Parts: sequence; C-alpha cells; structure tokens
Amino acid sequence: MLSPVEHAPLAPHCTLRIGGPARYLVEATDEATVTEAVAWAAARTLPVRVLGGGSNLVIADDGVDGLVLKIALRGMTERAVPGGIEVTAAAGEPWDDLVRYTVEHDWAGLECLSGIPGLVGATPIQNVGAYGQEVSDTLASVRALDRERGRVVTLAPSECGFGYRDSLFKSRAPGRFVVLAVTYRLTPGGAPYLGYADIAREIGTRSPSLPAVRETVIRVRRSKSMVLDAGDPNVRSCGSFFLNPIVDASALAAIDARATGLAMPRWPQPDGRVKLSAAWLIERAGFTRGQAEGPVGLSTRHTLAIVCHDGARARDVAAFARRVRAGVEQRFGVRLHPEPIFWGALSLD
Ligand SMILES: Cc1cc2nc3c(=O)[nH]c(=O)nc-3n(C[C@H](O)[C@H](O)[C@H](O)COP(=O)(O)OP(=O)(O)OC[C@H]3O[C@@H](n4cnc5c(N)ncnc54)[C@H](O)[C@@H]3O)c2cc1C
Repeated sequence: MLSPVEHAPLAPHCTLRIGGPARYLVEATDEATVTEAVAWAAARTLPVRVLGGGSNLVIADDGVDGLVLKIALRGMTERAVPGGIEVTAAAGEPWDDLVRYTVEHDWAGLECLSGIPGLVGATPIQNVGAYGQEVSDTLASVRALDRERGRVVTLAPSECGFGYRDSLFKSRAPGRFVVLAVTYRLTPGGAPYLGYADIAREIGTRSPSLPAVRETVIRVRRSKSMVLDAGDPNVRSCGSFFLNPIVDASALAAIDARATGLAMPRWPQPDGRVKLSAAWLIERAGFTRGQAEGPVGLSTRHTLAIVCHDGARARDVAAFARRVRAGVEQRFGVRLHPEPIFWGALSLD
C-alpha cells in the first residue's frame, strides 16, 4: 500500500539545496508504484510532480503542493540490433553511470555527455546536451506512463518534439508523461564525436578512444565546476541557469547594432536563426564570475551558473536571476530564459 510522507523536505533532493517541503512525497522503485501514486493523487485531485536527481530544479521556499514522485526505478538491459546496440536504462539510473558503462564497452554515442548530473529519466525532458552531442542524437525510444491516457506508452524520437534543451515533455505537454525507461541506440567501436572545438583541441590526438574523450570532457567540465564535486564552493548550482538565446535575422541585426565593436559569438542554426552565447551576453552586460549578492551569486568558474551559499533561499536566486536578465536586456535588448524548471510559487516574471 502506498504511504506518502507528508511535509517532506525537498532541499536535500536538489542540487541547489534550497526550497520548502512537498505536501506528499513518494519514492517509486517499481513501475507499479508509479501507477499507484499517480492514481492516488488523481483520486485526491492533487497535482503530481516528478523528481529525478533535482539537478535542474528551483523549488520555491514555500515548497510544493501535491504529490512529488521521486523516481528510483533501476535496471539496465542491452540487445544487439543491426549495426548497433540498444541500451535500455530505467529512469532512476544515474545518468553518468550509464555513460561510463557505454564508454567502457566501447559503444559510441554518449561520450560527450559524460559528467552531467541527474538521472536517465530526465534526459529526454530537456534533450540533455553538451559539447555538440544531445540525447536526441541516439535516443531510440522512451517508455512512459501517459497520465492523460492512463497507460504505459512507447514514444519514438519523432514523437518527442526534441529541440535545443526542449521536448514535448518540457514545453508542449509538461507533466503529462512520467518517463519510466529510455532506450539509446549506440555504435559499438564507433568513433567519438569531436565536433566541439574546445574538446578536440584539449584532446590533441586525432583518433582518441571513447575513454579518452570521456576523461577530457570530465576534466574540462570540472574546471568549470560543471560536475558535482563535494567541497567545490560552486557545487550548489543547477548548471547553466539561462538558455542560449536563438534569434532571427532582424533580432540579430538589432543586437549587433548594440554590440558595435564587440566580436559576438554566434552559431547559425539549420532553420536560419542564430544561437548566441548567454554567458558572453551576461559578461558583456557587466556581470563577472563570482559576483554575488548576499548568499547567491555567479559561479567563480562559469558565468552561466547561479550558485547558492549558506543562507540562500529560492527568492534570492530568483531576485539575482532577474537582475542578470534585466542587465542583459538593458544592454543588448535580448531576454534570457531560464533553463531549470521552477516548482511552486516562484518565477522570474
Ligand atoms: C553542475 C551541473 C551541470 C549540468 N550540466 C548540464 C549539461 O551540460 N547539459 C544539460 O543538458 N544539462 C545540464 N545540467 C542540468 C541537469 O543536470 C540535466 O537537465 C538533468 O538531465 C536533470 O536530471 P535530474 O534527474 O536531476 O532532473 P530533475 O532536476 O529532478 O528534474 C528536471 C525536470 O525533469 C522532470 N523529470 C525528471 N525525471 C522525470 C521522469 N522520469 N519523468 C518525467 N519527468 C521527469 C522533472 O519533473 C523536472 O521538470 C547540469 C546541472 C548541474 C547541476
């Protein structure tokens, strides 16, 4: 029988280590408990929120109403398919354990995604990506409980609406699906992806092994406090706080006009728009690494990460993020959008 914990603290479950309690918290170690918990909440007309590793969440100081469903499903299987191998991991598997396993087996496809915190089940939510790789490059299917239809479904990549840090799960149908397992299609003996100049330069060799790429990615990430290292003063973050803005030609011309004399980095997108660097915009708007206001500030190693220190509250994070966003908007006329998900009574607007 389901026994949710009432008024359960959530701060220990997220990497910012802030936020109030959940009205109810249930940990699901099997799919039956997921279904039961969703039905339990529906019977009481309570909202359901799904919690993974809490590395992309900002939880309001007053906490969240409803049922928080902590995903703790474990297990991994693999099967050979023509030209590849399909690895299926339960949603509660730690993401980086899966990446390490695939790299150790010489299966290419996830190596650049080494060192990213969180659990497997969250990777399709924002189409997790780094150094030129995204999970949508290798994702073969998502097994999920569709709360709208009340049954377990298997979604093909074409149904997942993947985009830059975006998906059906994040923006078109938030809350509708509880991801139960994800299947990735990888290439045994395949070459590592080296499309990102910083990583290729750092490695130096022409044909590095998958483990060499993984080690390099983790080293580079560690130098930016982008892996979770206990003892790192920047550890209480949710990674990049803002998305890189993607703008059309007319918006770009207006931004360029304000950025006269500055070499603004840009990456043309397949749809003709252009991706800009949020970190560059923040720095050129006058914010510096390590700049803090009370217990909240920018990481000393990465302009895009907002970091909490002792005494920080969610409202301090939101206030600081608002100031950064306003500074960039004032300087360049671009509005930055947050990457993490906000829970409870909290927003930047
Ligand atoms: C130091 C650091 C570095 C990071 N670097 C990167 C990076 O390089 N690239 C990148 O893309 N992200 C990065 N992130 C962000 C984060 O790690 C990823 O978004 C990760 O996938 C979140 O996983 P999680 O399990 O912690 O999800 P959570 O934070 O628990 O949840 C995030 C969202 O996903 C939903 N969710 C989680 N699990 C499920 C599920 N099973 N079913 C349905 N919905 C679910 C939640 O409801 C919530 O909306 C970084 C974060 C940190 C702290």
